[in-house]
Amino acid sequence: MKRAAPKSGFAPQIRTGLPGPKARKVLERDRKVITPAYTRGYPLVIERGEGSYVFDPDGNKFLDFTAGVAVNALGHAHPEIVRVIQEQAAKFIHMAGTDFYYEIMAAFAEKICSISPGKAPKQTFLANSGTEAIEAAIKLARYVTRRPRMIAFYGCFHGRSMGSLSLTASKPAQRRHFSPLLGDVTHAPYGDLDFIENVLFKRTTPPEDVAAIFVEPIQGEGGYNVAPKGFLEGLRKLCDKYDILMVADEVQSGLGRTGKWWAVDHFGVEPDILCMAKPIGGGIPLGAIVARKELNAWPSGAHANTFGGNPLACAAGLRTIELLEDGILDNARRMGDYLSASLDSLAEEFAHVGPSHGLGLMQAIDIRRGKQGPLDHDRRDRIVNAAFAEGLLLLGCGEGGIRFLPSLTVEKGHIDAALDVLRKALKTA
Ligand code: PLP
Repeated sequence: MKRAAPKSGFAPQIRTGLPGPKARKVLERDRKVITPAYTRGYPLVIERGEGSYVFDPDGNKFLDFTAGVAVNALGHAHPEIVRVIQEQAAKFIHMAGTDFYYEIMAAFAEKICSISPGKAPKQTFLANSGTEAIEAAIKLARYVTRRPRMIAFYGCFHGRSMGSLSLTASKPAQRRHFSPLLGDVTHAPYGDLDFIENVLFKRTTPPEDVAAIFVEPIQGEGGYNVAPKGFLEGLRKLCDKYDILMVADEVQSGLGRTGKWWAVDHFGVEPDILCMAKPIGGGIPLGAIVARKELNAWPSGAHANTFGGNPLACAAGLRTIELLEDGILDNARRMGDYLSASLDSLAEEFAHVGPSHGLGLMQAIDIRRGKQGPLDHDRRDRIVNAAFAEGLLLLGCGEGGIRFLPSLTVEKGHIDAALDVLRKALKTA
């Protein structure tokens, strides 16, 4: 099929049917030896990336509005990140920061503590992923409160290891056949403080048994649901009233994605424990919790790991934060406004598209059967696949959401080009 010439230099360029012949060979090898448990939606094979684009082995150029699932804050192969990783690798790649000391780990920790909410002195525990950050928060909360129970919210996603999975309440596939999970976790409807205080606390979950309440300020996998007005502020008060720790999961929303360092900053709320991962290691695995120094009241040996605070991740993460401070965070704020306004224009054009929801460059639209109708999961998937076929990389979220999470270096031209492709996909799929 002959393809129309791309409208601008920002547009993706697809030269072959997808997957192309070389990509197909990778897929065949992969399918023989890689578990089917992963969540791959369409057959993108990446050979290299550059800024907001990725290239497959057949020479197709894709516009990436996934940022490697919210990881590549500075886009692909940012020269400064490549440089600091190379420099650090030439010095040493690993030594185990939980057993020995090195400067880059202290330097990263100073930086991440300094940009985390609250003026009190803070400390961080470093791990390798989001789920490990949540596990660390569960353990710290239990350790310091000596209370067993936890509360989380329907629609939330906190990870897939056994502790974090016990909190996750997003999709049945994530939990099916994995019971028994951690006992003593209770879920509440997202945004419903009254349910916690007047149903849970009075019927099943005595507040003096609750160590922590885990909350995503914007539910990510669950559909990009922004905390309703007053919810996080009220949750903070509720936690204070019952001496319960408030744990904010900013694994997806953190480090500038929403146009501020943390999504909680939009609400002026200071959690007791802040969980983070995804972009904080500049693309190298790194997860962390940050909590007030006085809350870090667990002794040597209480928690540790081999790879947490890996020097490559600390070097890449530190440079990422410096570059965000140097104008890119402002760009994320400006481009977030532009993206949400652009998506809203689609909602006016198409009856099956709802208005954008999210904060900054963490935006989604919902695909529905008619304006007010139920979420349309199948059509959403068809639209995401049609966008892929035209060179735009997107991900779904929730039942019928499509999320837009480009790198924070994204420009108007990228957003316009993405919208051109999306418009076409919305018409055909
Ligand atoms: N918490 C949130 C809000 C997430 O979005 C994710 C992953 O998508 C996790 C936790 C788990 O992170 P990881 O996949 O690094 O274990």
